[in-house]
Amino acid sequence: MSINHLEVVQYPDRRSTHSQSVDLRIGKKTVVTPNFCLRIKNEQELDLFLHLKSKYPLSFVYSYIVRLLDAPRTLYPKIKALAQTGLFGGMTETPYSSSLNSDLIFVDPALEYLYYHSENILQRITSSFTIPKILRDYAKKCLDEKKRMASSSEFLKWRDAFHRKFWNTIYEDDSQRTKMIRDIHNLEIKYKADILIPPTPLITSDRLLNTALLINERGRELARGKRESADYFLLRVDTLRDNEIMDKIKRQVESSEDARLTIFKFKNMNLNSEERTSEKKAFKDLLIELSFVARHAENKAFMLLDAANQVYPAALTGFNIVASSFNGDKEDRHSRVERSPFGSWYDPEYMVFRSRNQLLEEIIKNNGGTVPCHCPECASPSDLLSEDFIEYNQAVKRHYIFCREAEMKEIFEAVKKRTTSMGADKLQRSSLKNLIDLIP
Ligand SMILES: [Zn+2]
Repeated sequence: MSINHLEVVQYPDRRSTHSQSVDLRIGKKTVVTPNFCLRIKNEQELDLFLHLKSKYPLSFVYSYIVRLLDAPRTLYPKIKALAQTGLFGGMTETPYSSSLNSDLIFVDPALEYLYYHSENILQRITSSFTIPKILRDYAKKCLDEKKRMASSSEFLKWRDAFHRKFWNTIYEDDSQRTKMIRDIHNLEIKYKADILIPPTPLITSDRLLNTALLINERGRELARGKRESADYFLLRVDTLRDNEIMDKIKRQVESSEDARLTIFKFKNMNLNSEERTSEKKAFKDLLIELSFVARHAENKAFMLLDAANQVYPAALTGFNIVASSFNGDKEDRHSRVERSPFGSWYDPEYMVFRSRNQLLEEIIKNNGGTVPCHCPECASPSDLLSEDFIEYNQAVKRHYIFCREAEMKEIFEAVKKRTTSMGADKLQRSSLKNLIDLIP
């Protein structure tokens, strides 16, 4: 049986001091880095992505990621349709089937939800029959206790203890751990993931880091002969300040020969915020460390999930693939009160999102009736100016993909020309000025 290992192809003419562009190859797929990985949360977003890719050559947006919880409503309908056309002997190429041959696909177990859970997420976990029973039971227990407890502070205290206890059991009980990893691997394979992501905990202590290390290692062992399995470190932003944890992770990254792709996720990270000085320094150290390891070791690649405001600097140094959602990973941060049906427009110059009103104001007041963007969507902005929020939202999303493509391409060109210091100039002109400190 041939198994598809991730191969990292380095090129001497595609590197500058702290940056490099490589090819990531797995089976017949080749992805040029830096690459933007879109996080997709439903079938409509997937259709929009696939349609755009079938019309335009987007070389730097060649991957997408779906959270396990979102996979039934996002990937399952496509897989079912694919099986049906296969059944009738049809060989018709669809945007989905051609994407299966070219895009790198990831399914994120996203078990931070066992810690940061809203009632809505818990209910979705308990009612999703595809989610492994151990996780459904966990969510149900949380919902029951929440109902039973008088105050939210009492519940939060209980939640922390319950979270620790759950992962302690996984750490100690070999058969439960193996079953959980296997069940989640099988789901990811069913959803056609190219590289498996193991079900690691949100790391808030040394004990949980050890649990993550163990699950990563067992994940690789269990995937052997089937797929490549990544190492996954799921962290809180303030953990960047914890030298012991960060050093241990860096040592693992340096020493592990088996882990070809290492994935990081820092929940709700916004290092553009003034208060995050020490986290910013620690993140910069991490970027430099990863870029050093990637140069000196064979077949090492790095991916950042929920990259949010950090997409650009992380793609410039350290990370080969950076992932973010259509709204810059904001949905987890804010409550849904009084949300406009009109989505936000990503401002490519200022690198932040603008509301529809701000966009219209910008077009009318400052830009002589034109949209301040050169992408195909904004060049003929009829949908963008639409009063219909469905048309408008689709236009905003297409524009967003074009913007990320342009950013990745800009970095790729700069690395080749060894002019990556332009990253600092770009951030200086943007609203992400505080991120200049991340550029080595
Ligand atoms: Zn545009």
